[in-house]
Amino acid sequence: MTGVRLSAEAYQVPTDAPEGDGTLAWSATTLVLVRVEADGHTGIGWTYGPAAAAAVVTDLLAPVVVGLDPDDVPAAWTAMQRQLRNAGRPGVAGLALSAADCAVWDLKARRHDLPLARLIGTARRQVPVYGSGGFTTYDDEQQHRQLAGWAHEQGIPRVKIKIGESCGTEVARDLARMAAARRTIGDDVELYVDANGAYQRKQAIRVADAAADLDVRWYEEPVSSDDLAGLGLVRDHVLPDVAAGEYGFDLVYFHRMAPYVDCLQIDVTRCGGISEFLRIAAVADAAGLQVSGHCAPHQHLPVAAATPNLRHLEWFHDHVRIESMLFDGVQPATGGAAPVPLDRPGNGVEFRADRAERYRVA
Ligand SMILES: [Mg+2]
Repeated sequence: MTGVRLSAEAYQVPTDAPEGDGTLAWSATTLVLVRVEADGHTGIGWTYGPAAAAAVVTDLLAPVVVGLDPDDVPAAWTAMQRQLRNAGRPGVAGLALSAADCAVWDLKARRHDLPLARLIGTARRQVPVYGSGGFTTYDDEQQHRQLAGWAHEQGIPRVKIKIGESCGTEVARDLARMAAARRTIGDDVELYVDANGAYQRKQAIRVADAAADLDVRWYEEPVSSDDLAGLGLVRDHVLPDVAAGEYGFDLVYFHRMAPYVDCLQIDVTRCGGISEFLRIAAVADAAGLQVSGHCAPHQHLPVAAATPNLRHLEWFHDHVRIESMLFDGVQPATGGAAPVPLDRPGNGVEFRADRAERYRVA
């Protein structure tokens, strides 16, 4: 019994420009950082969401891990998961659990002086990424500059833009922005779109048909991800792969969704952490599906490296920017793949509290 201490902080960072998608707009992003300490070592994990997740960590999760052996990651996960029964696993509590589990994994790797990717085991040394941004709030020039940066400067062969503007009421602009994106990236870069659940079922199919000459390869949340039958309907009627799963907070969510999509998106900072990510990837595999990591790219890299049926990882503009600002050790994804951190103990990054302090909100 060594004494495991969990703590959490929250930092709200303004975006570099107004950001929005089909169903939401925002001007700041909150990072909740979890630390777990034992034997003089500290592990870190993080999520993006309300600062209230930090209070869930300190009030609910910290007391149930204090007496555990810090190497017993499944014991910690199980204790924390059970503790959340009455708080509700999906939502803020799930964010807290996810960041805490990532921190517990990181602590174990650091205590044993191992890269986290080495502790979990790797299926690959480079993780394919796609550039993600193309917010509906961008003007033509902003979109062009961002996509050209990924496709032509960084050599990333896949890029994604947001569509479904104003809850699906601006389809003409959606199609014009998709066409502009194709002109920017040329014929050799894959074009992805994300409607964030903004369209109705038949509308989503009509949009895909109208964009047929743009060779879209990835159609994310064409309808609400709560409408499983709708996702299945769209998948069966369009050529791009239909993907969803970013709001999945537990294993059962993905088990239910798997029959209706072409690719499951898992977010390690929402789904229950690295422990649950690995189980969800197995559920996807059993359904014949690949998985894609959603956002928080540097929190995903070790588990993405460990997942045989991983397709790629979302290199989300907002989070890439924040992680580059607040952590040392982040690497670029030049050429379309991010290197898996294998030369340092733990997850490969160090939080810079000195640089983050001005953004602290909890
Ligand atoms: Mg999305």
